[in-house]
Order: sequence, then structure tokens, then C-alpha cells
Amino acid sequence: MDDPFVSCPYDPSHRVPRSRIQAHIVKCQKKHPTLASCPYNATHRLPQSEMTEHVQQCPSRSAIFPEHTPKVIAQLTSPRPILQREYLPETDPNHEIWDD
Ligand SMILES: [Zn+2]
Ligand SMILES: [Zn+2]
Repeated sequence: MDDPFVSCPYDPSHRVPRSRIQAHIVKCQKKHPTLASCPYNATHRLPQSEMTEHVQQCPSRSAIFPEHTPKVIAQLTSPRPILQREYLPETDPNHEIWDD
């Protein structure tokens, strides 16, 4: 079956010609700002809570980054060490006043 229409990721009741799905998503995105976009395929839209798992299974992943995939996944899923530094007491001005 050759179906030139695809379902809108925001609302499956939206049936859009495949050639128009990118433009449609841009419009629909304004009504559904809570969904994150897949880094591998802009037509993949999921809640942020499901995106981490999706990027590890994304069917577009290996097609776009056949060699760099593990690195990209690590960046998306690893905690960012710089955040920890911001929580150190030494960098907190309130802590210094309290310590005086
Ligand atoms: Zn739509
Ligand atoms: Zn994807």
C-alpha cells in the first residue's frame, strides 16, 4: 500500500501529504509546545519524558549518524557535570554571607 499521507505527530487525526508534513508540524507546534522534537528526525515529536528513550530507538538515527550515534546518545542521556558545580556552596553568595 502506497499511502502518500502521514499522520501528524501532534494529532493523529491530522492527515497530511508526506511532502507537507514538515510545514504542517511547524504550524501544529505552536498549538502543542510541550512536545520535544527528535534530533534525528524533525517529524518525530514526543513528550520530553519519552524523548530520551525514543532517541535510543529512533529509526532515523542510524541513517543520519551511522558512526557517531553512541556519542550523540551519551550527550543526550548523561547528566551534565557543569550543573553539579553550580550547586557547590563555594559558588553560592548566600552561603558566604551565612558563613560570616
Ligand atoms: Zn497537526
Ligand atoms: Zn526520532
